[in-house]
Amino acid sequence: MAQMTEHGGGVRSIRVPIPDNPLGYTLVYVVDTDRGPVLIDTGWDDPASWDTLAEGLAACGTAAGEIHGVVITHHHPDHHGLSAKVRKASGAWIAMHAADISIVRRARGTEPGRWFAYMTTKLEAAGAPEEHIAPMRTARPRTLPGLAPALPDREIVPGELLALPGRRLRAIWTPGHTPGHVCLHLEEEHPAQLPGHGRLFSGDHLLPGITPHIGLYEDPDDATVTDPLGDYLDSLERVARLDPAEVLPAHQHAFADAPFRVRELLAHHEERLTGLLALLTTPLTPWQLAERMEWNRPWDDIPYGSRNIAVSEAEAHLRRLVKLGRAEAVTGSDPVTYVASEGV
Ligand SMILES: [Zn+2]
Ligand SMILES: [Zn+2]
Repeated sequence: MAQMTEHGGGVRSIRVPIPDNPLGYTLVYVVDTDRGPVLIDTGWDDPASWDTLAEGLAACGTAAGEIHGVVITHHHPDHHGLSAKVRKASGAWIAMHAADISIVRRARGTEPGRWFAYMTTKLEAAGAPEEHIAPMRTARPRTLPGLAPALPDREIVPGELLALPGRRLRAIWTPGHTPGHVCLHLEEEHPAQLPGHGRLFSGDHLLPGITPHIGLYEDPDDATVTDPLGDYLDSLERVARLDPAEVLPAHQHAFADAPFRVRELLAHHEERLTGLLALLTTPLTPWQLAERMEWNRPWDDIPYGSRNIAVSEAEAHLRRLVKLGRAEAVTGSDPVTYVASEGV
């Protein structure tokens, strides 16, 4: 069956479609254990995606009702979306890193009105123009049925082996794309004896042909000044040091030579930071910086929701530059502007 791929050594993947998304699909991995199959991620919560997952599991000789456990790389809906349905069908446990569990808990508990108020304040501070903010002020918040993500019942503890009977799967904390993103290192010999150390389920952290979105960690209850891009770059070096024989990512396709891909990404981000410094010869708000950054299409063609994501990415880059002492906030500016530091 086209949507199922055999990776050998008791590991298969299923391409679970993401509706109306250029990424196309999430690769849901099925890992055999002595107690039944364990899933790594589950896919987007949509009837067609659920049907594809069910067909894929049938092609693997199993079914949703047989799943022993679910390991989630991070809380995003293309990874955690179908977890509730899998648990309902099977009674499987669901494991996630504590930092992402608290995001899920907050998403389930935060009243949408409060979220819109938080986003409005944030966008004002980032220097967004009034015509962009206005729709948020008048938004009629409502909760969408079926979009409450499943609350995980197990915590993934960094550095520890997960309770997968008969397998060695170790959690590697790789914050950056989300604060609680984890990669899972299968510490077993590669089934085709490829050189290197086991296999790495990399979620969205390390992908063969695209870079994951790195924005700010959005938390209305937490005023900590985090540095997600710095976290991400550190996490890249962490997975390169594992030197896995093969990477099994959550999108696109499996690949070898993780250290090479990590070097490419580190170089890409360094180039991007240097490019931003060139823009910051004049003081800019995060919004103005986002407008001038290079995206996959001209700023005028970027839709509303994606602009919020873009400005968050611009802010993450500014945080990094400030932390490195390569840029600084202009004293007294409101909304705050940033400028390259003298002598860089
Ligand atoms: Zn993601
Ligand atoms: Zn993803």
